[in-house]
Amino acid sequence: MIRVAALGSGSSGNSLLVQAGSTTLLVDCGFTMKETIARMYGLGISPSDVDAVLLSHEHGDHVKGVGPLSRKFGLPIWCTHGTYHKARDNRFSSVRLFNAHEPFIIGDISVDPFPTPHDAAESCQFVFEASNARFANVTDLGVCTTHVKEKLQGVHGLVVECNYDNEMLTNGPYPPSLQARIRSNYGHLGNDQAGSLLKQLDHPELQHILLGHLSEQNNSDAIALSTIQTHLEERPERVSVLAQHCASGWFDIVAETETAIAAV
Ligand SMILES: [Zn+2]
Ligand SMILES: [Zn+2]
Repeated sequence: MIRVAALGSGSSGNSLLVQAGSTTLLVDCGFTMKETIARMYGLGISPSDVDAVLLSHEHGDHVKGVGPLSRKFGLPIWCTHGTYHKARDNRFSSVRLFNAHEPFIIGDISVDPFPTPHDAAESCQFVFEASNARFANVTDLGVCTTHVKEKLQGVHGLVVECNYDNEMLTNGPYPPSLQARIRSNYGHLGNDQAGSLLKQLDHPELQHILLGHLSEQNNSDAIALSTIQTHLEERPERVSVLAQHCASGWFDIVAETETAIAAV
């Protein structure tokens, strides 16, 4: 089983806890150190429980508190070469650079990174696997490439980016240049793109679909949910929206083979 909880998700800060066996990973740290720690404690985790921090890319909403957190608690930071060199504060306690095409293992969790098309130096996202359960984090990408879709086949749960509603972005406060950046192939996934991705990925063991990285100006929980449900009609109870200003609860991701073994 893998369990995951978001410390928060949205255009002003992203951070996700992934736990399996005796291993705890923090994916991104887009809040101040103080806020990160407070939200972790709310989920029963202390910073010293974290074995490693993985960074998806260097944008502020993913790295804001990572330098101070790493130095204060001696946490190792895992990221690509490009992310490391572009991060504004990269004086980490220790750093492990990985190749975004090569899987690696941290404790009880296998991590399969994959490059993402986004306007960052060397961004990537991750599929996590433990006891056959697979969970993916898929935010900050302008388009779902064939490679991304291949990596996501068969996952049992995921965070998927629902950054904007098309109409709200068009009619909202953003100037045309910023709208174009968001919609570009190196920007963000909108609700419709996320819905069509989910339709392609859906399978009977897909248990938790967490809608993340919603823009506060250009989207709403209700619109994101209803758009996703037009693409994915079955089992709407699987879909949850992650909040920006508070942590989620824990979501348990279990592979069916694991359940079968437990039942024997
Ligand atoms: Zn972001
Ligand atoms: Zn980004």
